[in-house]
Formats: sequence, structure tokens, C-alpha cells
Amino acid sequence: MTAYPPEYPTVKMFINGAWIAEGEAGSMDVINPATGQVIGQCPKASPAQLDAALAAAEDGFARWSRTPGAERYAVLRRAAELLRQRAPDIATIVTAEMGKPRAQAIGEITGSTDMIDFLGEEAKRRGGRMIPARGPQMIAQMVTHEPVGPSVLLTPWNFPVNLPAKKIAGALAAGCSAILKPAENTPASAQLLVECFVDAGLPAGVLNLVYGDPGAVSEHLITSPVTRKVSFTGSTAVGKQLGALAANHMKRFTPELGGHAPVIVSKHADLDRAVAMCAATKFRNAGQVCVSPTRFLVAREIYDRFVAEFADRASKIKVGDPGADDSVDMGPLAHGRRIAAMEAVVADSGGNRGEVVSGGKAIVGSGFFFEPTVIANPAPDSRFMTEEPFGPIAGIVPFDAMEDAVRIANSLRYGLAAYAFSGNLDEAYYLGRALRAGMVGINQLIISSPETPFGGVGDSGFGSEGGEEGYLAFTDTKLVMLAKAGG
Ligand code: NAD
Repeated sequence: MTAYPPEYPTVKMFINGAWIAEGEAGSMDVINPATGQVIGQCPKASPAQLDAALAAAEDGFARWSRTPGAERYAVLRRAAELLRQRAPDIATIVTAEMGKPRAQAIGEITGSTDMIDFLGEEAKRRGGRMIPARGPQMIAQMVTHEPVGPSVLLTPWNFPVNLPAKKIAGALAAGCSAILKPAENTPASAQLLVECFVDAGLPAGVLNLVYGDPGAVSEHLITSPVTRKVSFTGSTAVGKQLGALAANHMKRFTPELGGHAPVIVSKHADLDRAVAMCAATKFRNAGQVCVSPTRFLVAREIYDRFVAEFADRASKIKVGDPGADDSVDMGPLAHGRRIAAMEAVVADSGGNRGEVVSGGKAIVGSGFFFEPTVIANPAPDSRFMTEEPFGPIAGIVPFDAMEDAVRIANSLRYGLAAYAFSGNLDEAYYLGRALRAGMVGINQLIISSPETPFGGVGDSGFGSEGGEEGYLAFTDTKLVMLAKAGG
């Protein structure tokens, strides 16, 4: 068993069953965004270390892909159990690395254990299918799901345990080996997750962990002939670059990208419930969530009340260092550069282009804090209405006809999550069908669970992870036609 560290650990890579603290390409500072202090060093892999991880994944795939599904399940099951036991200590590291309040970090980790369980079980139960033959000579037409091969998993910092867990579990359950390259600012969260799989008995080479400059590492791994699949979560701009690279090398690619989720609030909605849910969910993880509800389109009849109550709730959110105070509702943004991004959005919402009714400023101090911000009636062509803010900023726009609300909701190239609140069944059904998104929540804002697919359309990406799709994403479909040998 790996000795379990409650304090910030020495960050190590994991290559072919060995923990390696030395990055041959140097190291990067890891910064606590609530304090601005350096809390550790993240090693940077050299090309030779990346090649060692690729060789290990190739060898690991040869062995793991032949391991029966029930045995793969058993390893994943144990890993989930270890993660459950270690959640309180891992949550401390998640909070220190990216600033999420402790309760949200615990929720993220326990949600990850359920995801690993579900995908592990798929290894036991997901068979193929038999297709009836057309002629008497044919004995069987079998369709099977074969593991696609060594997979490269590229994950961001906003859910530094859950996103790696979902990709690792899908890959390993399907019989693939993997190389995980997590975000450079949350390496220890990923390391502690990987330790759970190692301590659960995963054979050497099957799961490898590397860090480094994201562009250079991704290019090295994606273009290697060993790699057969790439799974990326991050921004649309980077997703397009990596997708082009994957396409040039004919690699399977699943991009989970940005979003700018609309929320339509009808005059038939339960207003009190809708505004309470919307204000609470918007500022979860400081709004740094790809499915965060962000563009609120509210029926004119209830618009003034919605704005006043939303702004009141936003102004009461307790912002602070979640590592020092468990009662904080919202922590810092993950990077200093995110403050400048928020300021640019607010700057383009002043004057006659909108009204900042709550927040709007960075909070001066040592960490990267920004006030929970509400913009009333932002202009249609403003930065807020057209670019994903990925932070604690909500905008509220009135509408008269429901068709106008749907048109505004569907007007961007993003299509990850969309939401609506209505107590009218016909309207709720219409909205569920009319909103263009990979996931639609009606009268609720939670659209992710271990059993259900997660993915977007348009500039939000394609394909799904989570649910049975999360297993199938790491497989190739194969047909075996078996005919009689003679007369
Ligand atoms: P960023 O694009 O600099 O970094 C985001 C993530 O992408 C990091 O984890 C980073 O390691 C990775 N990355 C960056 N350049 C890369 C490259 N060339 N190749 C491979 N990976 C690369 O953005 P940021 O300022 O850290 O975060 C804000 C933006 O990131 C937002 O626009 C948001 O859309 C996006 N983001 C999306 C998600 C999501 O869940 N879809 C999560 C985090 C960030």
C-alpha cells in the first residue's frame, strides 16, 4: 500500500508501475489560488519519459485487454472503495489546489466513486449482439465491442478528481490502457486518484500519469503510433487544435468542451424554487463548470422579481479561503488569469450595454477572488452573451414570447447543457425538445449522474462520457460472420 499523505504530497509521475518525482524537463510551481502561495512542485516529463509511458501503455494494453471483464471490475471496485475511504484527505488537496469549498470537493469525490463503480460493472454486463442471418449457411453474425487501445486522457482543473476518474474508469473498464495528463495546477488531486487504482492492484503499465507543458505533452502523446484514442475535456479553442491533430493521425477523439448554458424561466415556473436553485447552482465552484447555468432568459411578467431575488442571493454568498473556513460558499478562481477574463466581461456590460446589479469586481487580497456578479439585461452582442465566461457571472434577459427565448438560447455555437423551468406540461415538453444541447434539464439543474451520458453538440464537442456511452467511447465495434465450413 502507498503511504497515505494528509499534507500536500511530493508530486510524482507514474510510469510503468514506478513513481517518479524527477521531471527530466524541469518542474512547475503549484499555487494555492486562495493565498497565492506556492505549495508544491509539479515535475515536467521529458520526451523520453513520455516515450516510456507510451511503451508501458502499449505493453499494459496487451495484457489488460485479455483480462476478463469480471477481473477488471474487481480492480475498479476496490479502487472506488479506496477513493471513498480517502475522500476526506483528498478533498483537502482538491481545495488547496483549485479553491473549491470542502463540501463540494467531498461531493465531487464521492460522485467519482459511483462513476467508477458503474463503469466497472459495465465490464461484466456489456456484451455484444447477435444479428439474424439471411441464409442457411450462416451460423452466427456477432457484434462485439473491442477495447480501442492505449488511450490518452487530457483533463482540466475544475473537477480535478471527477473528470480523470470518469475517463480512467471508462478506459480501464473497456479493457484499454491509459496515460493521464491532468491539468498542471491540480497534479496531486490526480495523483491521489491514481494511487487508489494502484493500491487496488492494477497491473503495472495499465495506467500511467505524466505532467508537463500541455501543448507539447499532448502533441507528443497524440501523434505517437501507440495511441489509439484521445479523450479531452477543456476549452473549445484547444479542443479544435487537438481534434485536428487527432484527425491527421486518424485517432478516435472525444472532446468535452465549453458551454454557455441558457436557462429559460417561464411565467408558469415556480418562481421561488427556480430562483433559489439558479442562484445556488450558478456560483457552485465559482461558476467554473462547463454546464453552469449562465444566461437566464426570464418571462417579462416575472423578470423584475427574478432579478431582485437573484441579486439579493448573490450578494449574500460568503466568499473566502475554503482551506481556512469550512463555511465559505465560494472560493477563489483557479488562476490569476481568470480575474482578467471576468473583468473583460464586466467591462463590456456597462453603460447602455447592461447593468451590473450585484458584484462586478475583483476582491483585493492575496488570492484570486471575484465577487459573485449579476448583470441585468446584457446587450445581445456583449461579451457576456456571446462568450463563455467560465466564472461567477450570471446575466438575466427578459423575453415576451417563448419562441424568442428559445431563439436566444439556441443562438450560440455552444450546445452542452440547457435548462428550463415551467409548471406547464406542454411547455416543458416543447422546451425539452426545442433546446439545442447535448443535455437538457427541466425544472432541475443537475444533469450528470453515473448512469447517464454526458456530452455536447456544436462547439461543445461530440460523443459522450458517463453512462453506458462512457464505456462504449473506449471501444471499437467489430463484426464476426461465421459460416458453415462446407455443404
Ligand atoms: P486553458 O485553455 O489555458 O486551460 C484549460 C485546460 O486545458 C488546462 O487543463 C490545460 O492543461 C489544458 N490545455 C491548455 N492548452 C492545451 C493544449 N495546447 N493542449 C492540451 N491541453 C491544453 O484555459 P484556462 O484559463 O485554464 O481555463 C478557462 C477556459 O478553459 C474556459 O474557456 C473554459 O472553457 C475552459 N475549461 C473548460 C472545462 C470543461 O469542463 N469543459 C474545464 C476547464 C477549463
